[in-house]
Amino acid sequence: MTGSQHAIATSSGTTALHLALMAHGVGPGDEVITSPFTFIASVNSILFTGATPVFADIDEGSFNVDARAIEAAITPRTKAIMPVHIYGQPCDMDEINALAREHGIAIIEDAAQAVGATYRGRHVGTFGTGVFSLYATKNVMSGEGGMITTDDDRIADQCRLLRNHGMRKRYQHEMLGYNFRLTDVLAAIGLVQLNRMPEATERRRANAAFLNSQIESVATPTVKDGRDHVWHQYTVRVPQEMDRDDAVKRLEAAGIGSGIFYPAGAHTFQHIKEVVGDVEMPVTDRVAASVISLPVHPLLEHADLDRIVAAVNAL
Ligand SMILES: *Cc1c(COP(=O)(O)O)cnc(C)c1O
Repeated sequence: MTGSQHAIATSSGTTALHLALMAHGVGPGDEVITSPFTFIASVNSILFTGATPVFADIDEGSFNVDARAIEAAITPRTKAIMPVHIYGQPCDMDEINALAREHGIAIIEDAAQAVGATYRGRHVGTFGTGVFSLYATKNVMSGEGGMITTDDDRIADQCRLLRNHGMRKRYQHEMLGYNFRLTDVLAAIGLVQLNRMPEATERRRANAAFLNSQIESVATPTVKDGRDHVWHQYTVRVPQEMDRDDAVKRLEAAGIGSGIFYPAGAHTFQHIKEVVGDVEMPVTDRVAASVISLPVHPLLEHADLDRIVAAVNAL
């Protein structure tokens, strides 16, 4: 589906990130640059390798990591850049690619929310080593599960060995490895879901386009040039004068479910502060304090969308 040479199934997106980093040799003493505005797994997987996460603040329009902030964060210890295609919108891959090439740094894409998304016609997960999640809420799911995509035979081989106790031939252990396998039962569910993805993605896109055209009370999401967004989340920002908690309550009272992804940047958590210290991520802080994600899923009917718009415009 992505066009990559290898796709390696794992037990979760988190274990897929962990394996991808290890396959690239990321370990103690190395730095990995990533976004603080992400699900914590992006950062925890870096910590589990013994490497140090380094945060680059985000771009206020797309919520994705800012390529200029990545550039400023590069040091001689930088081993990898982990762009996170947040909400299903691809990051600035031309700029990130150029930085990676110039400095000889690997790209490990956290595409957990972006299966099906493309950047200038190229599928996310093919710009370096790609990582997807099949968790129950993701656009393609198996309940729990993950996937690594790569064109690099050596990286693929390392991921497969690390996934299964370093075993190529039965009971011959070439190296220390984990059990990060996906079960066959979950793979069967995932395959059916994968076949439904194109249609489900079209519905998400149509829903997002409708919401964008009708919502007036809050700032609607924007899509940067050259990207096909897959709308894992449809995320608005409340204006400064609006109380977000109050807005969430009023939506709830109107029967509209919403979510806050994410209420705090990864740089604010104690276990991460212990490693990176106090860092300032002002854009992430502002965004985290003002986002609300609204329903955009493929099962919404016209009447549902009308109700969502009415409730949001009444805020
Ligand atoms: C879901 C998610 C993950 C982790 O995937 P799991 O399958 O839940 O382990 C990692 N990064 C991001 C951005 C995610 O949304």
